[in-house]
Amino acid sequence: MSEQVETALAERVARVRADVAEAARVAGRRPEEIEIVAVSKTVPRPVIDAAAALGLRHFGENRVQEAREKFAEPLPPGCDLHLIGQLQTNKAKLAVRLFDMIESVDRVSLIEALEKAARQQERIVPVLLQVNIAGEEQKAGCAPEEAAALMERLGASPWLEPRGLMTIAPLVPDPELARPVFAGLRELRDALRRRFPGQDLATLSMGMSNDYRVAIAEGATTIRVGRAIFA
Ligand SMILES: *Cc1c(COP(=O)(O)O)cnc(C)c1O
Repeated sequence: MSEQVETALAERVARVRADVAEAARVAGRRPEEIEIVAVSKTVPRPVIDAAAALGLRHFGENRVQEAREKFAEPLPPGCDLHLIGQLQTNKAKLAVRLFDMIESVDRVSLIEALEKAARQQERIVPVLLQVNIAGEEQKAGCAPEEAAALMERLGASPWLEPRGLMTIAPLVPDPELARPVFAGLRELRDALRRRFPGQDLATLSMGMSNDYRVAIAEGATTIRVGRAIFA
């Protein structure tokens, strides 16, 4: 990788970090509360390693097969890999082997497949429940009305560890238009917390390159940033 590419990457990472810190400050939150998942789905491995060398610790991929090839060599110590894309049940086994966190759990059949894989591999797998807050057709994620039943199912599994919720906001011209979606995910998380006080549902994974500032204002604890870092 050329020095130019490395410098440009370092500048973008610094800009995102500064932006996150500013958005947190404005919201009366601490920047350390917000975890940046660098979405590396279109990015070759050497660039991912350069990002890790800049101190990024969390990486997100949306396809199991692609991740298997890219991460044949494990990430440096202290780094983890999140699955953020739709997962077919027949890939659950591989997903449990490859990923440290699965953010895209959205249906009973997938919960069952993940549970079986986790039991076989004797691994406790942290997961997020993905919710389609905006109710967009053809989008992944359970309906908000299904969330409580799915959370109860997750909580009943000794192998899956629900940590909170994830959503993908619709693509809108003005990020402010996504605010109700982020607020909706937070409100749903708060309601689930009251209903399942024994579970640690602290995580709200919401916000991408174009709208993470708004997501932070609405309580995001994890933002998933691709283009703003790797573009
Ligand atoms: C690609 C992707 C992102 C990152 O999107 P950018 O606009 O590149 O920041 C975040 N979340 C999911 C689920 C994605 O597929």
